[in-house]
Amino acid sequence: MDVLVFGSAIVDFVAYANRLPKAGETLHGHKFMTGFGGKGANQCVAAARLGASTAMVAKLGDDTWGNNYLEQLRSENVNVDFIKQCKNETTGIAQICVSDSGENHIVIVVGANNLLSRDDVIQAKVLFDRAKVLICQFETPLDATLEALRAFNGISILNTAPAVEDTPVDLIKSATILCLNETEAAITTGSEQISTLTQAKVAMEHLLEMGANNVIITLGAMGAVYARREEPETFIHVPAVKVNDVVDTTGAGDAFIGALAYFMAHYPEFPWHQHIGAANQVAAYSVRHPGTQASFPKLDQVNKLTE
Ligand code: ADP
Repeated sequence: MDVLVFGSAIVDFVAYANRLPKAGETLHGHKFMTGFGGKGANQCVAAARLGASTAMVAKLGDDTWGNNYLEQLRSENVNVDFIKQCKNETTGIAQICVSDSGENHIVIVVGANNLLSRDDVIQAKVLFDRAKVLICQFETPLDATLEALRAFNGISILNTAPAVEDTPVDLIKSATILCLNETEAAITTGSEQISTLTQAKVAMEHLLEMGANNVIITLGAMGAVYARREEPETFIHVPAVKVNDVVDTTGAGDAFIGALAYFMAHYPEFPWHQHIGAANQVAAYSVRHPGTQASFPKLDQVNKLTE
């Protein structure tokens, strides 16, 4: 197995209206959509679309949305043997209202995601033993995430998102690679907003000092940078693909991480800047297409992009 994801699955309910409602107000909207999301599932689907054999360890509710999500993941060829549906708990949901000017209100109820536990790591041992790359995020309980990282001997990618101000050092130290965007890097290091390569370099050095083994910071249209503890002087910038027709950047970071895991699992002999360059290509495809999981490419679609 190539890629194992230990993490979140959330269903998005998105209502579009001319403006956001005021407190206590009922407003008519003009469009409604549901979408499958949650960083964990997004990253897993991104890797699976490219052709990785994937499995996910997650928790859903014992409800219609849990059933639908399982079906969705199966249709993406994700192994769901260790995704449990919990009795008396709801599937994680995000209720999102978007105004015509692009403002939004979001309420997330993580539901069953909160029940993902250390025990789930132990029960899925067969997957932890077989996978080449593990991906975790911060949308499920951190003690379980730490257990997952410790139980794994391959390459582990910890996406510290959503960022927390006091990220436990044990988590930072336990992952092979810390992968985060510029906003998350600023929160994690307690620094000002990062908008230049020089600021990104300072944040990387800070994260290495905090105990990270390797760090990748994604920088939106600037691409990504990485640094490795083993080679203290390395600070490599891998520019993004130039995109003139950006349609929707939601899920770009998840596309990047899923792709990074796929390329690292499939081409371990390649240097990191090539893995990151390929992940930039996949994420660039995603920003040119609408939706989150809907915008993730198959491998041949990325190849077309690079021709
Ligand atoms: P997140 O989605 O977590 O905010 P980023 O905004 O850093 O993450 O984007 C992740 C990756 O997506 C970037 O490293 C880059 O490869 C790609 N990307 C994002 N925005 C653009 C853009 N406007 N043009 C080209 N690539 C982009």
